[in-house]
Amino acid sequence: MTRRKSRNRRRPAPTASSAAPTAIEAQSTSTSSTDDADDEEEALAALLLAANTRTYLDKLTELANGFGLDGPDELEDDDALAGLDDRARESAASIINTRNVILASIALALWPDKDAITARFNDWQAGQQELIARHETAMTASTAASDFISRNGLTGTAHVEPIDSAGLDDECDHAISQGEIPIEDIDIDLPAHPNCNHSWVYTLSGDAEITWIGN
Ligand SMILES: [Zn+2]
Repeated sequence: MTRRKSRNRRRPAPTASSAAPTAIEAQSTSTSSTDDADDEEEALAALLLAANTRTYLDKLTELANGFGLDGPDELEDDDALAGLDDRARESAASIINTRNVILASIALALWPDKDAITARFNDWQAGQQELIARHETAMTASTAASDFISRNGLTGTAHVEPIDSAGLDDECDHAISQGEIPIEDIDIDLPAHPNCNHSWVYTLSGDAEITWIGN
């Protein structure tokens, strides 16, 4: 697969505040030039791609094992690889954009107390990393499962777990309320949003012939 350069990608607009950019530079020297910012995004995308490819393969292996088959050693399918690559790039851009917006807002609120800015930002960043890792893993496992099902033409039913959303989550409440439904009736991708802890649990018809395991 050819790697695409993203030098011409749209970058988040610089903030208008005179205070925030100073704080960003104090916090993260890697955003001191646009090339460095691109490099940071590329590096993050590469990290996400590697981690998500592992997750994708693990999910394919789990599904294949359910049919008494071994999982793949590596992912060879061009469409699947391109999908993972695209999403890693989108996620990296979104993560860095969000981080810059949050840092600017913290800096505006706490300026000129740089220690307080750093402490607040580090707190946010610590929670964020776990949330990102969970979301990326859930998204990737969900994609692997739906690819495996559609590429092998599998049939069966599915329901959402956990069956509680504490009333916080309209989209997921709708999916939960449907109960066990035919796979072809699924009308929402899960996780539906960051912090969503829901996933589809599939019951697949067992007599299908599996011809696609990421190959
Ligand atoms: Zn949810």
